Order: sequence, then C-alpha cells, then structure tokens
Amino acid sequence: PLLANQIAAGEVVERPSSVVKELLENAVDAGAKRIQLDIERGGTRLIRITDDGSGISRDQLELALARHATSKIEHTDDLKAIHTLGFRGEALASISSVSKLTLSSKVASDDEQSSGWSAIAQGRDMAVEIQPRAMPTGTIVEVKDLFFNTPARQKFLRAERTEYVHIEETMKRVALASPSIAFTLKHNGKVTKRIPAASSQEQQKQRIGSIVSNSFLQQALALDTRIDNLKLWGWVSSPQHHQNSNLSQYVFVNGRAVRDKTLNHAIRQAYQDLLPTGRVPAYVLYLELDAEKVDVNVHPTKHEVRFSEARQVHDFIARAVAECLQPQNE
Ligand code: ADP
Ligand code: MG
Repeated sequence: PLLANQIAAGEVVERPSSVVKELLENAVDAGAKRIQLDIERGGTRLIRITDDGSGISRDQLELALARHATSKIEHTDDLKAIHTLGFRGEALASISSVSKLTLSSKVASDDEQSSGWSAIAQGRDMAVEIQPRAMPTGTIVEVKDLFFNTPARQKFLRAERTEYVHIEETMKRVALASPSIAFTLKHNGKVTKRIPAASSQEQQKQRIGSIVSNSFLQQALALDTRIDNLKLWGWVSSPQHHQNSNLSQYVFVNGRAVRDKTLNHAIRQAYQDLLPTGRVPAYVLYLELDAEKVDVNVHPTKHEVRFSEARQVHDFIARAVAECLQPQNE
C-alpha cells in the first residue's frame, strides 16, 4: 500500500502548497466556518490545519486515510455532477505516504464528555494507530516532515520563503472561492495573513481587495451577467490598469479555483486591442453553471476542467467581459 500511495502522491503532492490545497479543500467540504493554518519552515517541517467543520467519527477515521476512500460520492453516476471540491479519496492516503501524518477529529454528536480521536499512520505497512485526543468539534490534520522518505522529491523543494509564498497563494485562491469562511495563516509562529469571513456584497468586495490588492479593486470594473444557466460575476481590471505578469488572475468555476485555457482565452480575447502588447489584465471572476456541464475529473490536482459546451461558455465569457470593458461603463 505504501508504494501505490507514494506513486499516487507523485501526482497530487508536488510541494508543501499541494498538501495545503488538499487539506484546505477538505476543510471547506466539511462545512468549516473557520480554518487555521500553521506552517513551519515553509511547510516542510509542519503543516497543521485546524477546522471547525463536521468532523470524522472514530469508526471512519482509519477509512479516511485509506486510498480511494471518499465519503463524498457513492455511485459512479455522482461523478457526472460533483458538488464538493474533493471526490477522489486520494489526498490523505497520498500525503500520509510521504510524511508523518496525524488525523484528529471530533464530531458534534459526541456528548460533551467524550474526546476526539487521532489516527496516526506509521511504518511501511501504514498501520493505523488510534488514540483519544481532547479537542473541540472539527478536524486537525498535522503533516510533519514532508518527503522525509522520498529524497527525490525533497531535492525539488525550494527555499523556505518560496514554499511559503506558494502556500499563501494557495490559501488566497481557496479563500477567494469561499467568502463565508474565515482564514488565518501562521508561519513559524507568527500570524502572516488573516482573512475574515464576509456576508454582505460590500464586505465581500473589501475582502477581495485585501486578498488580491486594494489598488486592483479601486479601478476594477464590476461584472454581473447571466444568460440562461450561465452566470458570470466579479471584477476585471480597466484597460488603463494593466500589468505585465499573470499575477492577480483568478477564475472560479462553481466555487473551485481553476486554470483553464478556454476561460483564459475568452478573457484575453475581450481585452484584445485594448491593452499594449505584452500587458495583461487582472481579474477575479466567478463562473457558475450546471454541475453536469463541467467535468472536474480531468486531472488528479483538479486544477483543470472540461466544459461539455466549451464554445458556448467561451463566447459567453468573451462577450460578458467585452461588454463590461466598453467605454460607457467607465
Ligand atoms: P476526498 O476529499 O477526495 O474525499 P481525501 O483523501 O481528501 O479524499 O479525504 C478522505 C475522506 O476523509 C473524505 O472523503 C472525508 O470523508 C474525510 N475528511 C478528510 N478531511 C476532512 C475534514 N477536514 N473534515 C471532515 N472530514 C474529512
Ligand atoms: Mg480531499
């Protein structure tokens, strides 16, 4: 089981920020309202994520660490319309095969007196040891010494600062996708980022400003368009405020941060002839469409998506952004 998991880990766990992405997504799927991330040494020594979500009951703990075990889909038919960020049941098994992982959890239905439980995967056979642990309702995942047993991967780790920057970027993406969740990030014991939850539209706008940059939001044009079951909303930079790198380009599809060629192409097309060569726009865009019309099961990292009606989606976005950029809107 260790080898199979390590091979799978090669696909999903490239660096500390990939672990962070998977663990944050699990906390979001568990309905957490607050997520706290503690990182040591750019995530190579420790990644600890604490959430106040649904928790995992004692009898499900060991299963949660098993490969291909997911509580999020039951039938292959469910793959046609995925409503959670996770569904492959691979992340915890993969991460635990390349680190020292402890999964601790407590479910709300436990009576006040009862404790939570920790599952610790150990050794070549990944035997799981279960111990009681006093903790509030929710889940704590601790990932220590990432890649300690896979030296080839360890070689690809960059400086602590670089890995930290990737982690912060990963958290920003998840936070942008989940406005009603509060996030805290600590690095080496110091709070480095605090993102409050937003309920109103105005709070959400402020929150996006504090995550992306206030200068982006001050000049950005608001967009909100819907045609049939396609909805696109968010903010795009005005053509006068371009940038020269792909920073601050965020697209979310049904609450999932994606990097998608179709979407990027459509947005670029809308800016065609409006920007000097070599300059690119900034944007935070949310696309919502029927879950059946988008396949997220394209790649293990789930960054990519495939649309069943790609042309229609492309043209809808290109037109929506182009209309927003027209001079009378400024
Ligand atoms: P997936 O997210 O694809 O289902 P994972 O390996 O990431 O697979 O997680 C396995 C299972 O462990 C999940 O299906 C879920 O039941 C449980 N789990 C993991 N993290 C959490 C969490 N933070 N809160 C509640 N349950 C969790
Ligand atoms: Mg998951």
